[in-house]
Amino acid sequence: MPITKPEHRKTQKKYDFDKELNPTNMTLKIIILYLILGILWILLSDWIVNLMLGEAGNTQIVQSVKGVFYIFATAGVFYFVIRRSIQIYAMALSDLKYAFSELDLSHQISLELDEKLYKLAYYDALTGLPNKVLLENTINQYITDHPRDGLIGFVYFDIDEFSNINEVKGHSIGDDLIKQILSTLHLEIKEPNMLARMGGDEFVLAIFGIEKLDQFMPLVESLVKLIRKTYVLEEDEFFVTFSVGVALYPDHGKDYITLLRHADAAQSIAKAKGRDQIVIFDDEMVTMIRQQTELLNQLRRAIENKEFSLHYQPIINLHDDQPSGVEALIRWQHPIKGFIPPLEFISLSEKNGYIKEISQWVFKEIAAQYEAWTIQGKAFRISINISPVMLMSEIFIPYVNEWISTYHLDSSTITLEITETAIIEDIQKSIHVLKQLKKLGFHIALDDFGTGYSSLTYLQKLPIDIIKIDRSFISTIKPNTEEFYVLRYMIELAHHLNLQVVAEGIETIEQAQMIKKYEVDFAQGYFFCRPMPQMRVIEYFKEISPK
Ligand code: C2E
Ligand code: CA
Ligand code: CA
Repeated sequence: MPITKPEHRKTQKKYDFDKELNPTNMTLKIIILYLILGILWILLSDWIVNLMLGEAGNTQIVQSVKGVFYIFATAGVFYFVIRRSIQIYAMALSDLKYAFSELDLSHQISLELDEKLYKLAYYDALTGLPNKVLLENTINQYITDHPRDGLIGFVYFDIDEFSNINEVKGHSIGDDLIKQILSTLHLEIKEPNMLARMGGDEFVLAIFGIEKLDQFMPLVESLVKLIRKTYVLEEDEFFVTFSVGVALYPDHGKDYITLLRHADAAQSIAKAKGRDQIVIFDDEMVTMIRQQTELLNQLRRAIENKEFSLHYQPIINLHDDQPSGVEALIRWQHPIKGFIPPLEFISLSEKNGYIKEISQWVFKEIAAQYEAWTIQGKAFRISINISPVMLMSEIFIPYVNEWISTYHLDSSTITLEITETAIIEDIQKSIHVLKQLKKLGFHIALDDFGTGYSSLTYLQKLPIDIIKIDRSFISTIKPNTEEFYVLRYMIELAHHLNLQVVAEGIETIEQAQMIKKYEVDFAQGYFFCRPMPQMRVIEYFKEISPK
């Protein structure tokens, strides 16, 4: 019920109740008034009677009238004085009631607020499940209360390809999927075990009081099996898998933070191994993580320390056996560890976004060396490797646009090499980005072609100019095997789609002859030339050019 202010409080002045309602004050006031009125009445009435009637008056009657009049007059005065006091009392009482009800209400509100704050602090708003703060408190409390009571299983789940679902179907459908998965899982979890959402598409299951690992792992496997299935989202079906990392208390960590870090590490290894699997933490992972963190810190300083350089590998046109361009390949010369191959640091820098700075360094360096690629009047093409992270980032198109205009580059001499993995993650977005790059005048090459995905089906949809057949494909191929026919078919299909074909990793004369026979357009590999600094490649070009 809403509490309203008493009427009189809205209009009347405030009383000083202490002063006005003090009983001693009030009684004294009435007595003094009574005395003053009595004395005044005796003195004044006798005087007035004398004045009006003189000595001759009938004093008996006059005294009686005077007495009655006095009684009425004092009764009137007391009536007003007492009435006013009672009124003040009544007001005070209603104010008091109001104050009490206000107090009651604010107590109720503060209780409700307390509960809301508690929920906000300890529970996830989307799923209503405990959040990481509550999980941390619960685990730490459990460790304090039961230091020797068996193991705690800490299971870290991450939904595979969740960002894809979010992008294709929108965030609210993504949220829906999370709710579906977690409510299915939650039904299987009994106290004191806890399922907590860590944020995004990651959640943790804590199982308390396990006796043996081989008793716990079948449970984890059955839970993963339960949620690893097809979910229907707005009529579309999505098969959802999970990368899961497991760490155990006390073997893999004696507190919450360490358990979390180690389960998360095991989870990222499950992802790196190709997703859809459960990985149990082991100590080697710590060394690996430490080394990676160290390498990453050094990588962050590599640009300012001028430790990067570019090498270029010639690309040979097989129609005239002459070089037609180069592929730029980054090199990191570490002051202590020496040369570190790009495959070791590119993927690391992709994970934390540092790749964007590295890419920008590559673009600047290429611009600085661009002029020198016009040799004896002939302009060579330059191929640049673009990381999927950079390709999909919002800054990429504006960046390359500014890059060509700032350095006055001819974009038609530049090929951007992108990988299948970048495209397969989000085909629609990739097509959109690639179209914009083609509008800016760049050529697009699909790198590492033939590694894994059934790429032939979407080849026709992509706005590309070149496919680069991966080295692994070339190096293992033997005549008249199944792969050999696939290769021939790939080359034919590419030509049919008006795409040029580059074969990578040509190391032997046999390989060179074979690809030439099957009409591959360009070749790259140690057989022709290794990647080298620009000056040496230019010398090589001059050496082999027809005199
Ligand atoms: P990729 O784009 O497939 O580059 C070709 C790789 O094959 C290069 O390795 C090259 O040195 C190597 N290679 C060329 N010919 C032969 C051969 O005949 N035999 C063998 N065994 N290898 C050959 P590298 O320079 O170590 O680069 C590895 C990968 O790192 C590249 O693969 C590319 O994906 C990435 N990468 C290199 N530079 C950059 C860069 O500037 N940006 C980005 N995002 N990635 C880069
Ligand atoms: Ca490449
Ligand atoms: Ca390649």
